[in-house]
This record gives sequence, structure tokens and C-alpha cells, in this order.
Amino acid sequence: MSQKVAIVTGGGRGIGRAVGTRLAADGFAVALLDLNEQDASSTAADLEAAGHRAIGVGADVADEDGVAAAVARVVEELGAPTALVNNAGVLRDNLLFKMSVDDWDTVLDVHLRGAFLMSRAVQAHMVEAKWGRIVNLSSSSALGNRGQANYSAAKAGMQGFTKTLAIELGPFGVTANAIAPGLIQTAMTEATAARLKVPFETFLEEAAKQIPVRRIGQPEDIAALASFFCSEESGFVSGQTVYVAGGPLA
Ligand code: NAD
Repeated sequence: MSQKVAIVTGGGRGIGRAVGTRLAADGFAVALLDLNEQDASSTAADLEAAGHRAIGVGADVADEDGVAAAVARVVEELGAPTALVNNAGVLRDNLLFKMSVDDWDTVLDVHLRGAFLMSRAVQAHMVEAKWGRIVNLSSSSALGNRGQANYSAAKAGMQGFTKTLAIELGPFGVTANAIAPGLIQTAMTEATAARLKVPFETFLEEAAKQIPVRRIGQPEDIAALASFFCSEESGFVSGQTVYVAGGPLA
């Protein structure tokens, strides 16, 4: 059997890097697609050094032509992708009355337009293979979070998008599921602490006190569920959103 190919967007660092590393260990050839080409390439180099097949691809998920070119490169260099993790993300936090149109558009573009463009480009290969796995990164912020009108709208949108993909693509052997992380220790949350002018360690310690399992999430906590959603055995699970937050969320 030929090796399955996965694309992980935002795969250069943080959660995306952990997901790519886990999928490589699971046996996928992995394309790490990231706006930061250098991070994508160095993650790919680390995976190759560990004996896996991986490439780093520099691309903006919100750019239609860029997405088409990036997916074509993956097909050419690794083969047709049948797993896609829509993980690329940005924050532009601000209270509604101070939020610029640019802050709104940037967040909606990267998360929602990006997931749409990537899924539309990759689904053709999944439908042809009659097998596919799409995993979308939502967030606990989908339930509402002060200062994140743009981000919570995008992350709630990811959940509806996931359900519709599950309905439309299910007949072709393709599942779609969403992961909604709580607080995960990455550069993104470090930037949030800096914006709030709280030392990162203090920010994490205080947050951990509010989490039932009394710890902050790590990228590998998300990668573990992404691995299950991309596996053969998850084939009867589709259209779901699972909160990975160290406790129950609505
Ligand atoms: P991160 O900032 O560490 O990594 C995000 C990656 O996405 C970066 O490598 C960045 O270059 C890339 N990226 C940004 N814009 C892009 C674009 N237009 N095209 C391609 N790549 C782009 O963030 P993270 O914490 O690893 O978050 C990963 C995902 O998980 C995001 O969707 C985020 O919203 C979500 N999430 C994170 C947390 C958390 O606590 N860290 C919680 C809930 C959800």
C-alpha cells in the first residue's frame, strides 16, 4: 500500500508542528504548509532527520492562487493528499469598539477563508481516493471570549463548516471533525500574555488554577486527537467538535 499524505497548515510551529510530527510518526508523509516558509522547512528537516518523509511549503492559506500552487506542489513531491489539518491561525484581539475592519478581515480570512480554500483544493484528491480526513482547529473561544469578536466568530464558524463538510463529503469516505482547544502553551498564548503585560509563567500558573486537570495544555494534547481523527479507526466519527481543554466546556 502506498503511503498516505497529510497536509498540516500552520505546520511550522506550535500546535501545527506537533500535529505534523505526530502524523509522521503515524506513517503519513507530511507537508507542513506555513506563511513562514523557514519554520515550515526547518520542521520538515527535523522530521526528515528522524527518518520521515516531509516537505515544508511556504504559502498563505487565504490566497486562492497560493493554495492551488501549494497543493499542486504537495501532489508533485509527496503524492495526492488525503488528510488535511486546517490549523493555521492568527489573533488580532481587541474590544469591539476598538476593532478595526482590518483586524476583523485578517482573522476571518486566515481561519475561515483559509480552511475553505484548503478544503476545496484537497477534497478532489480525497474524493478520488474515496478516503479522506479533514480536521479543523476551532477553539474554546467559539463559546465567546472578551476581546475576540473576530476570533470567536471565526472559530464558531469552523464548527459549522466542519458539520457541512461531514455531510457533503461523507458519501465519498471522507470524515470532517473539529478540535476546540482550551489554553495551549505556544507562541500564540505567549503573545497574549505579553499583550496583557503579564509574565508568561504567571499567566500560565494562574490559568492552570482554573482548569479542572490543573495544568495547561501542550501541543501534543491536540496532536493526539488529530492523530485519532486522521486514523482509519475513526471512520464512523464525523461532524464532531471535541473540546480539548482539561475539563468540560459547553
Ligand atoms: P502559533 O501562532 O504558534 O502558530 C500558528 C501558525 O500558523 C504559525 O506558524 C503561522 O506562521 C501560521 N500562519 C498564520 N497565518 C497563516 C496563513 N495565512 N497561511 C499559512 N500559515 C499561517 O499558534 P498555535 O497556538 O499553534 O495555534 C494553532 C491553531 O490552534 C490556530 O488555529 C489557533 O487559533 C488554534 N488554537 C490555539 C489555542 C492555543 O491556546 N494556543 C487555543 C485554541 C485554538
